[in-house]
Amino acid sequence: MEVLLHEDLAALSDLDEQSLLESLSQRFRQDRIYTYIGDILVAINPFKYLPLYEKEVSERYKYHEKTKLPPHIFAVADRAYQSMLGRLATGPRNQCIVISGESGAGKTESTKLLLRQIMELCRANSQLEQQILQVNPLLEAFGNAQTVMNDNSSRFGKYIQLRFHNSSVKGAKINEYLLEKSRVVHQDEGERNFHIFYCMLAGISPDDKDMYGLLDPTQYRYLNGRYGSEDIVRKWGEKYSEVCNAMDMVGFEEQEKVDMMTILAGILSLGNIMFEPTETDAVRVTDKSMGWLKATAGQFGVQEEELLRSLTCTLSVTRGEAIRRLHNQQQAEDARDSIAKVAYGRVFGWIVSKVNELLAPNVDFDVELSEIGILDIFGFENFAVNRFEQLCINLANEQLQYFFNHHIFLMEQNEYKEEGIEWESISFKDNKPILDLFLTKPIGILSLLDEQSAFPQASDRDFVDKLNSKFKSSPHYEVVRSHSPLFTVVHYAGKVQYNGLGFLEKNRDTIPASIRSLFINSVTPLLSLLFAATISRTGTLMPRKAKLMQQADDNFNSTRKQSVGAQFKHSLAVLMEKMFVASPHFVRCIKPNGSKLPDQVDNKIVMDQLRYNGLLETIRIRRDGFSWRPSFKEFAQRYNILLMKPDLPLTKESCLSILNTTEIHGWKCGSSRMFFKYWHQEELARLLERLGKA
Ligand code: ATP
Ligand code: MG
Repeated sequence: MEVLLHEDLAALSDLDEQSLLESLSQRFRQDRIYTYIGDILVAINPFKYLPLYEKEVSERYKYHEKTKLPPHIFAVADRAYQSMLGRLATGPRNQCIVISGESGAGKTESTKLLLRQIMELCRANSQLEQQILQVNPLLEAFGNAQTVMNDNSSRFGKYIQLRFHNSSVKGAKINEYLLEKSRVVHQDEGERNFHIFYCMLAGISPDDKDMYGLLDPTQYRYLNGRYGSEDIVRKWGEKYSEVCNAMDMVGFEEQEKVDMMTILAGILSLGNIMFEPTETDAVRVTDKSMGWLKATAGQFGVQEEELLRSLTCTLSVTRGEAIRRLHNQQQAEDARDSIAKVAYGRVFGWIVSKVNELLAPNVDFDVELSEIGILDIFGFENFAVNRFEQLCINLANEQLQYFFNHHIFLMEQNEYKEEGIEWESISFKDNKPILDLFLTKPIGILSLLDEQSAFPQASDRDFVDKLNSKFKSSPHYEVVRSHSPLFTVVHYAGKVQYNGLGFLEKNRDTIPASIRSLFINSVTPLLSLLFAATISRTGTLMPRKAKLMQQADDNFNSTRKQSVGAQFKHSLAVLMEKMFVASPHFVRCIKPNGSKLPDQVDNKIVMDQLRYNGLLETIRIRRDGFSWRPSFKEFAQRYNILLMKPDLPLTKESCLSILNTTEIHGWKCGSSRMFFKYWHQEELARLLERLGKA
């Protein structure tokens, strides 16, 4: 029984899968949702309100000693903040908190709690603090939606970087990853469009509703004609005022808000434009939806004829000659949907870049800032139908798992070997081969996708056939015999069957030049700005000025750009680079059951997560391993004060004499660095503090 109450599973001497599951679920039943594995926090989603986050709790966890208080997400905030200030240990000052778990496991909630607590810890400039806290509701409204897995599922990934000078926050920066734009035009059974549409329709005043030209929500095809019960609508309405409030607080201007809402209204109207074939095999807008065409043009601030043209035909330039190709019905519908997706995607990207502009640190160039980053991406997904978006989402999760493995197992055990520490190696499920399956050049899944995307004639079937022939013998790939272009990837978190339909198109994500110029000519300032500018990978808006404007006017071809897959791969690589040079803190979120219910543990679902997360191995390495490994120099420099000899040489001998004056035991000495258990940091910090007080 004693085992079950342990707050740090790394302290257990003997543990197997079953007792790990038992310990966690026993704690969970007592509403102890947090448990440590050494310096890693495991968090099980309670799916109910728990009185764990009150002001008084937040106060208690400020500058606390880890072992004196129960495990908590606030403790992670505290450690990251203290480490950034250099109060806890040696190592890089920049910190990153990596939150992982499948969809609905509680990553976004954890992120919000972390942000809140870090803001509590640094309390410097209360306006900036408020602004930073308001970013989340804003991004959530535009980037989250109800899915079958989670009522508030993040449909984009984000890395929030809080920037500090000494102990006070100076600004923040958000990187966003791969918004699931396709949701704007299509939602599967049991799912919804992005929250903001429902919020806007529920919360807007009758006057504004008229101004934006919004009608009854059940009329809109992009919302599937579904709205919600009175109760839900009231909640959306409240959320709308929160969002408006957040926009004000962060610093959006009135006109920008109006433009944004008008564009959203335009997207809804656009979705209702229907087409029918003419006698001559071309296409026209049905009589019934002429009104929607007019409405859309008005809301987008564009000429009705021009909008009609970009829906019903494509202009291309061949040997200097402009050729107009009429769309068939399918092509017209695709054009309509791609306008909606691109407009929404641009609005979202603009919000992020605007937030970054408003929250950029206002400090001199030479002021050195340190950083705490919090990574909250979309969790691992396995739906009835898995598309290109799921492939990217799951790839990101693979990458994160690799980062975790690399830090916890690879790096650590390599160092034991290099430094001559006696060590019995702990095996772990290395997912590098799966990452390689996706990322290797020139024959990884993404490269093959790019290769096929470059052929205008290639089909999704061709792409999947290519995959089949290249990977049929890979242990992480399975060929699916079917008329549809299906294939299966064996991910670290389980098998996922993907449907290749639409992969090429989504990967290309080209905006026809006619659509670009349509929007550049819009009288809505925000729309023309969005299309005259390009949003860089770092999330800032870069005007490409006159050159691009001219290009858009006289070049009818689609603008060439990197594929979505290639961009995503690049942004993941940049993120990893950043994370690899920071001190990481891990939060592993676990979903207790598949029905979003409180007080219920589904043993199989939890066990699966414990297994693929590699938690049992993690416990072993945290128990037996040495997670803190400062060099002799780093260690001696920091702790020479314990010997009262500030001019001590920074050598191995000095480290040993320092440690010999303490009662700390269980550490080891390598050839160039010291090896400590995770709890040694706190013991030493305590000694320093005592000295300070003396
Ligand atoms: P996704 O990958 O789909 O974005 P996620 O891991 O971000 O999923 P969250 O949105 O954080 O999941 O959590 C899902 C839901 O679980 C929340 O909307 C909330 O209802 C509940 N939840 C999560 N964490 C907590 C918590 N600490 N206390 C109470 N409820 C929680
Ligand atoms: Mg989320």
